Amino acid sequence: MSYSIDDISNQSIIVETCLDINERDAIESKGSFHGLLKDAPFGATAVVNGLSQQLIYQLQLMLPGVFVSYDDLNVDLGDAAFPYVQAPGKQALQRAIQARGIKLLVNSSYRTIAQQMLLFNDRFNNSYPVAPPGRSNHQTGLAIDVEDPRGWDSFLIPHGWEPLPGDPPHFDYVGSETRDIRQDSIRAFQQLWNINHPDEKIDEDGIFTEGGETEDALNRSPAFGFAKAPWDNKPRVLKLSQPRMEGSDVVRLQEALKKAEIIVAADGEFGPETDKAVKEFQKRKNLTPDGIVGPKTLGQLA
Ligand SMILES: [Zn+2]
Repeated sequence: MSYSIDDISNQSIIVETCLDINERDAIESKGSFHGLLKDAPFGATAVVNGLSQQLIYQLQLMLPGVFVSYDDLNVDLGDAAFPYVQAPGKQALQRAIQARGIKLLVNSSYRTIAQQMLLFNDRFNNSYPVAPPGRSNHQTGLAIDVEDPRGWDSFLIPHGWEPLPGDPPHFDYVGSETRDIRQDSIRAFQQLWNINHPDEKIDEDGIFTEGGETEDALNRSPAFGFAKAPWDNKPRVLKLSQPRMEGSDVVRLQEALKKAEIIVAADGEFGPETDKAVKEFQKRKNLTPDGIVGPKTLGQLA
């Protein structure tokens, strides 16, 4: 299968073969690549983890309550699977998981346009189709790829999650009260770029075209994220999660913990050691030692 120029111009979704892409997502990676996206090694899409998290957070700020995490459900996540769907899709997922009564293993869900750009840059080296950023069904916030898809059919389908013919692990949420967020995914990047490049602004039009300024800017973006991050003004809740949280806010947290004389490396990645350090700090301050860095813990660290 391949895409045509028509597909791109009318913004239709390009069907990908998710099993092939899931293999890329499953390649082990040691956090973000420290350089520009265009220079990142082809392999795991987790090399753009830092930038991806900024894009997700920016999208959440743009669409409060619309695009939500489901990592609090009974799920296990693959290495590069960002657990985000639109709110009605999450409610449906919760009901399906409760109905079956076992853990749902998710290999891929929301794919950021940074991850999609990596795959798209490498498209000629692969035999499977790859959509340009903004045209994948994994940018809709309505997609999951699961293990044991046929075992889940009779639980997911009644709750509005439909299997996609020819793409075994893939389900799309087809229930009501959702919106097309693919252009928002592009616009989230364009906004972040402009905040960081006031002298080199691009249109915030939500449109990605091959050879266009948004593609060029995306390729010239740092894989570990921009200097000015969306959480600078509105802190995100930091905790041990899958994929691991990475970013300037994690560095600041680790440095504050070090100042409080708790041993932790300031590597910008919230792994098990940072989790342990946070819990130690919380114990000292008589806070609930849950490892979750919200306003209370942040307030004590400041
Ligand atoms: Zn899929």
